[in-house]
Amino acid sequence: MASYLTGIITPHRKHTKKSPTIRMDVPKTVTIPMEMHIGKPAIPTVKVGDLVKVGTKIGEADGKISSNIYSSVSGKVVKFVEYLLFNGFVTTAAVIESDGEMTMEEGLTPPTVNTKEDLIEAIKASGVVGLGGAGFPTQVKFDVDPEKVDYLIINGAECEPYVTSDTVTMLTRGDDMAYALQTINRAMGISKAIIGVESNNKKAVRAMQILADAVIWPDVNVKVLPPVYPQGGEKVLVYHTTGRKIHANQLPIDVGCIVVNCTTLAAIGAYLKTGIPLVEKCVTVDGGAVKKPRNVMVPIGTSLEDLFNACGGLTVEPAKIIYGGPMMGITVPNTSASVLKNTNAALALTAKEAKLPKTTACIRCGSCVNTCPFGLAPISIAEAYDRKDVDALKALHVTTCMECGCCSFVCPANRPLVQKNKLSKQLLKDIKEGENK
Ligand code: SF4
Ligand code: SF4
Repeated sequence: MASYLTGIITPHRKHTKKSPTIRMDVPKTVTIPMEMHIGKPAIPTVKVGDLVKVGTKIGEADGKISSNIYSSVSGKVVKFVEYLLFNGFVTTAAVIESDGEMTMEEGLTPPTVNTKEDLIEAIKASGVVGLGGAGFPTQVKFDVDPEKVDYLIINGAECEPYVTSDTVTMLTRGDDMAYALQTINRAMGISKAIIGVESNNKKAVRAMQILADAVIWPDVNVKVLPPVYPQGGEKVLVYHTTGRKIHANQLPIDVGCIVVNCTTLAAIGAYLKTGIPLVEKCVTVDGGAVKKPRNVMVPIGTSLEDLFNACGGLTVEPAKIIYGGPMMGITVPNTSASVLKNTNAALALTAKEAKLPKTTACIRCGSCVNTCPFGLAPISIAEAYDRKDVDALKALHVTTCMECGCCSFVCPANRPLVQKNKLSKQLLKDIKEGENK
């Protein structure tokens, strides 16, 4: 079913690629949600009035699929608030007033990692989740039989327009990435790693080749990929780096691969070297409404308002604010939202940039089907959704859709195809949850 070979050429708009990365001033307050990951929310470990430092644990992972949360500033916990998540659910967030000192928590030391169990424990303690998008707790990916892993695939294919924060990682944090690769090799015996980078990201390709030459064990190869979207999609990346196809209902490990985003790998490496957990993030700030687009190192929990102000502020009222890139990013209602662990970009788009073209009738051209990397039939899915035909949605494998948006992008009639796919997946999920009650 899957072709994996298709892709679209999107406007790259990587305006921030050449601008220097800045470290923003310490914000007055941060609002840190207990749920910045897939899985159960963390359980708060501090209370109002507690003094915290950078790296103080403020939330304990609740079970296997969850993640620890750490304070990104030193100061005082002033309140807990309800925080609206992208999926419409509400979680608890700690509001911390910064003392401006950024004092580090005492006693943070690098972990000793010699075994798989050590590695899993260390990644869990680091608070690192998938920083390239979904926020899946990274330790879970490594909780597999090492014998079944042929390749560690590092995702450096930053295919979303505007976003360059992974490129900053590849250019500046090769040491952290190398340290993580060597430790993972020692702990799990994974002997081969492949770093996928797009051919138009020439400096990053060079930086990763230098890393590959420097790391003796594991054997690291750089795979230069065509600059098409969605090259960074997990299944697409595995196919283009190893030739292995991940079918519906399979995971990368089913074809002998673990896939980790390059910034996630660097964050693991930084923790392994220092014992300092994940407390800050490099975020691409761009869009026509931003005065000085650039990459910014930001304490997690900083408001988008503070982040935009660190880039000279907004020149016009943005028509749309997006977390992530324009293809798969999520619209946020206002600038009070926080930078989360997996926020890789914050875009403030002008009305012209955000304007959606008028939708017209489907002309049955088949472009959406021909473009889908997984050979899905988006127009048929949309029609089945409109009929609420659950059997047809299952038969059309809508759950395989990775919501890349390629079908919507190529549709000459501007049909809301990816939106219908998302609604269809939610419909099936709701029905399944209803059956399990
Ligand atoms: S959004 Fe889904 S259906 Fe559309 S092209 Fe991407 S994977 Fe295919
Ligand atoms: S690309 Fe648009 S117009 Fe063409 S078949 Fe798909 S939905 Fe219809």
